[in-house]
Amino acid sequence: MAISPWHQTQWRSLQERRHVIPSSMLIVGKPGTDLPNLAMELAGMLLCNVGNGDKPCTACNSCHMFARGVHPDLHVISTEEAEGMCDLRFRNHSVRYADSDSTKRERRTTVRNIITVNQIRAVTDALNKSAGLGSSKICLIYPADALNLNAANALLKSLEEPTGGTYFLLVSSSPSNLPPTIRSRCSRLNLNNPTSDESIEWLTVKHKVDLKVAQQLITHGLGPYDALQMNTRENLEAHQALIDGLTNLISGNISAGAFARQSGIYDIVLTLKVIQSEIHRGLRESAQPDHDTDVPVLISPDLAVEFREALFSVYFAIGRFLSWPKKSVDEQLFLEDIALKLAFCAQTRG
Ligand SMILES: [Zn+2]
Repeated sequence: MAISPWHQTQWRSLQERRHVIPSSMLIVGKPGTDLPNLAMELAGMLLCNVGNGDKPCTACNSCHMFARGVHPDLHVISTEEAEGMCDLRFRNHSVRYADSDSTKRERRTTVRNIITVNQIRAVTDALNKSAGLGSSKICLIYPADALNLNAANALLKSLEEPTGGTYFLLVSSSPSNLPPTIRSRCSRLNLNNPTSDESIEWLTVKHKVDLKVAQQLITHGLGPYDALQMNTRENLEAHQALIDGLTNLISGNISAGAFARQSGIYDIVLTLKVIQSEIHRGLRESAQPDHDTDVPVLISPDLAVEFREALFSVYFAIGRFLSWPKKSVDEQLFLEDIALKLAFCAQTRG
């Protein structure tokens, strides 16, 4: 797959430095900006048997197996949740370390969103045992912040004493959720995130997404790849229903309970991100009006001025919530609490 335009400069630099790539890397960037693809391309380059020049040869045995998603020296560890968002080449590799007990997998009602110690044990065993096809072996972990504590501890030893030619590529959008012991053993690469304009251009020109849709989704904090996945009639209707619900909540037309129930049609984390971005926009508009804004603000400048403190506190509460490990707090209860605070702003006013 091609490298995204916003990663091109750093990609060229990685190509030039291919012989001095550190053995443990933490690759960081915003969600929905094509992180796993960049890490996969890096893996492909490091695995190429020909290995001269600054890009994979695409012709050797290694490059062929990489492209077909069956490279024995590319060990990809992921979660069911993340896999669902990744391309076929990624999934073909990650299936090797997925939950091997299929009955257990079928019996569960939720999608697994953590990386378990069993997955890490399996991969470290494989890395120690296998001779390898060429000179390199890659362990790619995405999202690395999904490692639970036991899994992170199990990984630590391998990071400290990597066997020759082994590269660990840890990929994360929330690196602060990784234990400091893991972070300190990796060289960190902060990837460039696309600007709003770059994201909108990519969506509308390359993927023919409607301009208004692209503007709205990017304004609400989605990464360009997440916005592209959202671009189905069903998802856009749910998104619009959320915007309408939020408008009604803020103007006092519906209760917090009704809003929180309605948002069941829409992912709670996305709902919170939309609320957060609208508070940010409302506060910014009140301080520095931008009459050319492409997407109407939901929180009017006078409301933002009047409830500045309350809105700031909601904004930071959502920020903290989003930085916590997943499922550590009841999402539905948290959303209801946020909705109550926003409804209170409207009621006090009315
Ligand atoms: Zn090659």
